[in-house]
Amino acid sequence: MDNKNIKETVKKVFNEYLSANGHRKTPERFAILDAIYSIEGHFTVDMLQEMMEGSNFRVSRATLYNTILLLMDSQLVVRLQFGNSSQYEKLYNIGMHLHLFCTQCGKITEIHDTNLQRIISEAKFPHFNTSHFSLYMYGLCNRCDRANKRKKKKL
Ligand SMILES: [Zn+2]
Ligand SMILES: [Zn+2]
Repeated sequence: MDNKNIKETVKKVFNEYLSANGHRKTPERFAILDAIYSIEGHFTVDMLQEMMEGSNFRVSRATLYNTILLLMDSQLVVRLQFGNSSQYEKLYNIGMHLHLFCTQCGKITEIHDTNLQRIISEAKFPHFNTSHFSLYMYGLCNRCDRANKRKKKKL
């Protein structure tokens, strides 16, 4: 599916969700959805706010948070919690992927390992219907690793 089709589909999903739950269909909400589905990879609320400031829609922080909650409820966005920082990513049609999380600087790299992905998606769990997964590997990124080694040498 190309990006244009994905955007059309998520718009439809969100539209139906808002109707079904009696939420207002404001242009701001759809502009936020569109912005999110233009982002590659993860985003923070700060990043999203910056993006929205460059668009025709001026949205408040409260509207951003509120819309993200609605998008999470409609399964279009998922929250990733890293320590005490929250990041989000789109959920529709993103494919399964793995995250490498640097415990020192907080950098997250997404990797696609078809072997691992296949093994995990074929795994069956009793009394549970899996819809998607994301996997985190914790460690140090190259930069932090090298910086630490340099520090040690100086001591
Ligand atoms: Zn790092
Ligand atoms: Zn991710």
